[in-house]
Order: sequence, then C-alpha cells, then structure tokens
Amino acid sequence: MANVIAAIEALADVIIAKKEFLTELDAAIGDADHGINMARGFEAVRAKLAAANPEDIGGVLKLVGMTLISTVGGASGPLYGTAFMRAAVVTQGKAILDAATIAQMLSAAIGGIKDRGKAVRGEKTMLDALEPAYEAFIQAMDKGESLSKSLQAATKAAADGVEYTKTIIATKGRASYLGERSIGHQDAGATSTYLMLSALTAFAQ
Ligand code: ADP
Ligand code: MG
Ligand code: MG
Repeated sequence: MANVIAAIEALADVIIAKKEFLTELDAAIGDADHGINMARGFEAVRAKLAAANPEDIGGVLKLVGMTLISTVGGASGPLYGTAFMRAAVVTQGKAILDAATIAQMLSAAIGGIKDRGKAVRGEKTMLDALEPAYEAFIQAMDKGESLSKSLQAATKAAADGVEYTKTIIATKGRASYLGERSIGHQDAGATSTYLMLSALTAFAQ
C-alpha cells in the first residue's frame, strides 16, 4: 500500500508545483481557478493520507475521491472526484498496482467523468487527454510492453491530447462560453490530467 500512497503523493506534488501554470491556463478561457482548486484538493489529500491507514488500493482511491469532491469545487472537483471514486470500486481488495489494474482504473475513471460531465472526446476537456492515454496504454500493454513503457506511451498520448485541445472549440465547461475564441488555448483540465499521468509515469520508472 505504501507505493500506492507514494504514487498519490507524487500526483499531489506535481499539481501543487504547477498550481500557477494551471491557473494561468484557466485564466485565458475560464475563471482562473483550476490550479488553485486542484492544489487545495491535493493539499487536503496529502493531509488526509497522512492521518488515515487505508487497507487496500480501493481505500486509498476512495479517500482521494471523497476529498477532491469535498474540497476542490468547480467543475473539476466532482469530475476528478468521481474518477477516483470509480477507480476505487475496481481496486477494492487489491494491494498491487499492476498494468491490468491500472487499465481498469483508467477505464472506470473515464466512465465516471463521462457519466458526471456528459462530455465526449473533442469538447476540449480532461477527456481529450485521458481517453487517448487509456487507449495508448492498452495498445502498449497488448504489444507486451512493460508497465513503465506503457505508462510512457499513455503520457505521450495525453501530451498530444493537450496539444489537440488548442485546435478545437470548447463545448463543455466555462470555456464553452467563449465559443470560437477558445481556439488557440490549451485546456486546463486536460493539462492537469497530463501532469498527473506524467507524475505516475515518473513514479513507476
Ligand atoms: P470551473 O470551470 O468550474 O472553474 P475548474 O477550473 O477547476 O472548474 O476546471 C475546469 C476544467 O474542467 C476544464 O478545463 C475541463 O477540462 C474540465 N471540464 C469542465 N466541464 C467538463 C465536463 N462536462 N466534462 C469533463 N471535463 C470538464
Ligand atoms: Mg475554473
Ligand atoms: Mg471556478
């Protein structure tokens, strides 16, 4: 369990370190709070993890999800919170974070975000990073790549997804109010998703 908690701490570190960058991205086409929201949530996650003693991966992820829902606010709080809660469901009773488990977690997280936010890929949201990342991860795994190589492929796909968000109009979330003026800017939520995946990947090397 220690490694899963350490992985979550790695996610928290990168989000907190990139707080200002994420907020700047949201300032361009939203309300300038994504980094602030996410950093607040992950500070709370850090504090809760230090005090709790979860017995399985599901317990860790449930704690993360509940904490994000109650502390992040905005659109991203319930969305990321639901993503972690759904990932918790598929990791109940598990103690090892292997490739198959990570694939199940990513798939469950995507399902949760879609159920909650009613967005699909191509609407300039976190899904534009997470869904291609999942697909790249599965593809790499199917080719027999190692966990760390598969995570690298996922992170690369997420980075490409972030670039793609620059080229499209936002049709969900606050950025959708800008219509065509949202083109040219990368989505803050896609960027935080990429950052979390890259932290997980670095952790797994
Ligand atoms: P808010 O927009 O309420 O201020 P944040 O700034 O924290 O919340 O988060 C904004 C991010 O949430 C966007 O960049 C986008 O990636 C994501 N987002 C917004 N609406 C949706 C949705 N319906 N589905 C998926 N992601 C969404
Ligand atoms: Mg915002
Ligand atoms: Mg807001």
